[in-house]
Amino acid sequence: MNEPRKVVDLSKLDYDFPKYIKQTTGSNPFVCFTCRTCSSLCTSGKVNVLNIAKIVRQIALGLKEDVLGSKEIWTCATCMKCQEFCPQGVNPLDMIYFLQNKAVESGMPTIPIAYIEMVKSIVRIGLIQAPQEVISADFDEFDREELELPDLSMPDAEKIKQILLKTGFRHVIK
Ligand code: SF4
Ligand code: SF4
Repeated sequence: MNEPRKVVDLSKLDYDFPKYIKQTTGSNPFVCFTCRTCSSLCTSGKVNVLNIAKIVRQIALGLKEDVLGSKEIWTCATCMKCQEFCPQGVNPLDMIYFLQNKAVESGMPTIPIAYIEMVKSIVRIGLIQAPQEVISADFDEFDREELELPDLSMPDAEKIKQILLKTGFRHVIK
């Protein structure tokens, strides 16, 4: 499902923004010819709000605030299909990574709460969530032992925490 139609305010175009993205990511938004191959294959776009071809177009136009403030950029599943199949060699996923980093850096309040909770969980236990029991269609609950699965080897949470904190995640999860 796409966002409702929105009027583009030409006075807000930032012509340096696409050039900066091209320079920083090596991905060139100006060669996109809007074939929408990326959107038609996009894993997230099938079930979520993400319209990756629109994001690439918005970047090329210089709609900096729109893309940095967009909730869509947080729904990418990083499947890489857009990069694999773009006939023009545009790397939309690299652009998404760039936009997410810039949005965090600029303090834009678009990071979904679920994302923050996942990061907090990684800092705490090294996983995006604690291991869950499986619930069957009859609402019976099974743990790994009952399913005869081996014990999970837990990651070194303290090491992950130190790495995340060094990358500046503290201000994201505060
Ligand atoms: S597949 Fe490539 S050229 Fe086509 S719309 Fe997406 S980014 Fe643009
Ligand atoms: S990497 Fe993200 S934007 Fe690209 S196709 Fe996959 S989900 Fe869509």
